[in-house]
Amino acid sequence: MRLLVIEDTEDLADALLRHLRGMGHAVDHVASVAEAEAAFRVADYAAAVLDIGLPDGSGLDLLRAERARGNRTPILIATARDRISDRIAGLDAGADDYVVKPFDLAEVEARLRAQVRRATAAGATEVDLGTLRVDLTGGRVFGPEGEIRLTAREWAVLALLVGARGRVRSRAALEEALYSFDDEIAGNAVEVYVSRLRTKLGAQVIETRRGLGYLVP
Ligand code: CA
Repeated sequence: MRLLVIEDTEDLADALLRHLRGMGHAVDHVASVAEAEAAFRVADYAAAVLDIGLPDGSGLDLLRAERARGNRTPILIATARDRISDRIAGLDAGADDYVVKPFDLAEVEARLRAQVRRATAAGATEVDLGTLRVDLTGGRVFGPEGEIRLTAREWAVLALLVGARGRVRSRAALEEALYSFDDEIAGNAVEVYVSRLRTKLGAQVIETRRGLGYLVP
């Protein structure tokens, strides 16, 4: 899933990014209120971790403003162990949950997944696609013969399409999911990963809508 980490303490952010990316997530990192606002406007995140004390303002004000403009991304506020008042203020401001600093990395990841699960319509954690079973929580796909291994990038493309099942996702939206892996991707990357997914999962799993994008029917 695509995640946003809003945290200005570098070593905390680094550890979190390394862990979340290691778990196969596509993660963007910003370190200020202004950057976070910009990120929320251009990308569609499954969930975000939000620090309260940011160099150009309060994470709580950012949270209130995002909720006021209709941003429903699940957001976990990051608070210090001894700042219970922060947690209450955060939840009041529209946070979905909180995590305590210094981060227990596995716990942050689990809480993010729980929030994404909760936000997914009807709380579906598994989706059946013909003979395939897609485990959205675990990031795994199973066919009649057992698990079909996907790379993190293949999964990013598939998860985006399955999450919007029945709706066309544009090539640009898929490209964006791939870009957040932080390295250069070729101009035809979307086609390449869609083609690899069709080879692994069956050609019928992803349909092309010429000029519009792709969808999982
Ligand atoms: Ca901070």
